[in-house]
Amino acid sequence: MATTAAPSVAGRFGPWGGRYVPETLVAALDELEQAYAEAQADPDFHVKLDALLRDYAGRPTPLYHAARLSESLGGARIYLKREDLLHTGAHKINNCLGQALLAVRMGKRRIIAETGAGQHGVATATVCALFGLECVVYMGEEDMRRQELNVYRMRLLGAEVRGVSSGSRTLKDAINEAMRDWVTNVRTTHYLLGSVLGAHPYPTMVRDFHRVISREARAQIIEKEGRLPTAIIACVGGGSNAIGVFYEFIPDKEVRLIGVEAGGRSPKLGEHAARFSGGAPGVLQGTYSYVLQDEDGQIALTHSVSAGLDYASIGPEHAALHDSGRAEYTSATDAEALDATLRLARTEGIIPALESAHAVAECIRLAPKLKPQEILLVNISGRGDKDMGILTRELKLTGA
Ligand SMILES: *Cc1c(COP(=O)(O)O)cnc(C)c1O
Repeated sequence: MATTAAPSVAGRFGPWGGRYVPETLVAALDELEQAYAEAQADPDFHVKLDALLRDYAGRPTPLYHAARLSESLGGARIYLKREDLLHTGAHKINNCLGQALLAVRMGKRRIIAETGAGQHGVATATVCALFGLECVVYMGEEDMRRQELNVYRMRLLGAEVRGVSSGSRTLKDAINEAMRDWVTNVRTTHYLLGSVLGAHPYPTMVRDFHRVISREARAQIIEKEGRLPTAIIACVGGGSNAIGVFYEFIPDKEVRLIGVEAGGRSPKLGEHAARFSGGAPGVLQGTYSYVLQDEDGQIALTHSVSAGLDYASIGPEHAALHDSGRAEYTSATDAEALDATLRLARTEGIIPALESAHAVAECIRLAPKLKPQEILLVNISGRGDKDMGILTRELKLTGA
């Protein structure tokens, strides 16, 4: 969170993004930017990454026509992009494989990451095991207590999980510790960031590793329907699955792009994570974007039933897409996400991650307003297995 040095001009999305980091990290970010540019231009890098995405992660993911959900809503034809079927259960593996391959290329054999709910920590620990890299994951002690199973998963995969006992003992404290580690060990260590956040080049690089989602989805919908969808819907935490499924459609002006933030319990500050309705310009984790904060500029507490959307800032490219009006942003409450989970489970036999359920909730609101020949494409960013603890508490099911 340290915000000392001036941002470089590179890596701006309009006024957003940039680099707000301590002086000591500027050289490391330059090195990363350079290495990434070289990797992007190297066909061998793409051959390796594509092979891993296919054989290890399970790409391409299907684009599935949800006929019963569509029929029950009585409007648009609904298609689901099934990122939930990937190895480790969510889209996060796309980015982790890309960055791990890059770290190896840079000769960095030590990986650090920070994690809130543990999903990014698990995906990071997974790729470190795959590449034989040392892995240290910072996690707030409060989060470790709440996400015991993911802590165990990371350790089983060979990662060291370092509990952070400062501050609120949650994600923002883990971010501070990870930053401190990186400053100290920058020569040997790659910081594997989990969303389209952080200082340049992270938001651009992480976006590129997730672009495969829309590259596939665009070809798949054209193959199945011979035309483009009316709208694409994705949940937005940091914004990586959303930018991944939006990106290749950005030039298709007739396609609406709809991001869904966490409406949480209420619109009161502290009870949600809807940055575009409740946030203001600010810096968090090295990047300038919309941030939920109090009058003094202190990072606000956030809440969402889905840990992956429970973050005070949003990727800077989304800030630009929001301002230009190219993408629209709305929110779904905890209650709407829980209802959407139940509805998708019972109409299609698919239990979405609670994050993805926010996108499904918007689909449930929008589909009945559209004509039967219109198409909605919903990104199912992950599967719900990880959420069974929360679901058993929040959704009381009785009888058959
Ligand atoms: C982490 C996570 C998210 C939120 O992250 P984005 O960067 O906004 O995509 C969404 N869905 C699932 C399943 C996740 O694990």
